[in-house]
Amino acid sequence: MSELTPYQADRYSRQVLCEHVCEAGQTDICGGHVALVGVGAIGSAALNMLARAGVGTLTLIDPDRIELSNLQRQTLYVEADAEAGEPKAEAAARGALAINSTLCVRPVVARVDGANAEELLEGVDVIVDGIDDFRARYILNDVACKMGIPYIYGAVLGSFGVTMSIAPGKPCLQCLFPEPPESWDTAATRGVLAAVVNTVASLQVVEALKVLMGRTEDLAEGMFQIDVWDRTVDVVEIARQEDCPSCAGAYKFLA
Ligand SMILES: [Zn+2]
Repeated sequence: MSELTPYQADRYSRQVLCEHVCEAGQTDICGGHVALVGVGAIGSAALNMLARAGVGTLTLIDPDRIELSNLQRQTLYVEADAEAGEPKAEAAARGALAINSTLCVRPVVARVDGANAEELLEGVDVIVDGIDDFRARYILNDVACKMGIPYIYGAVLGSFGVTMSIAPGKPCLQCLFPEPPESWDTAATRGVLAAVVNTVASLQVVEALKVLMGRTEDLAEGMFQIDVWDRTVDVVEIARQEDCPSCAGAYKFLA
């Protein structure tokens, strides 16, 4: 196992001091590869933390361009980015490298679909969900199950957020809901508070770091739900379903 360089030992010293990380964990984080699918609200918040944590390789996938209405919660971006209408993946990559120039950051300006998902996510250690498209989540779920990649689901709306850690042997999204909904609300239809975005992203980042450190036994069970307005939290138990197509190896959302 390679050791931290003196620069890394200094830069990440406060994280290394955490009993859950230590030097071995930081070495794993520095050698890890996280794919952020969507670098909007959750993706901005998660990327900020993952880049500072020292995750060695980051793949950032997003088809969209930055707009003025993104700035309220998409914390990587500033007014000049919105005025330029730059692709989020490219601006996010630049932002991540400005935070931490030692990382390898790979921007991909594309929408994940059933045909490209496996190729885009080949070789990543963990997928962090930053999208607001339920159908695309079922594509990510199928890729995760097929390729054995842990997938950290996260979603926010209004003041409400949910997250769930999907990994080999655990219940998946299709165990929970066999099909994606026909339609769903998003920030564009019902709005969202930046506070819940950052809360959910923080929880997802901890789970992603656990995966990088090989601590999948520590991944959270069930679906965590929080309402930052009511200050209510809940964990809904999820059971693996015998007849779940994705768990059984039928990946119907992949082309
Ligand atoms: Zn399943």
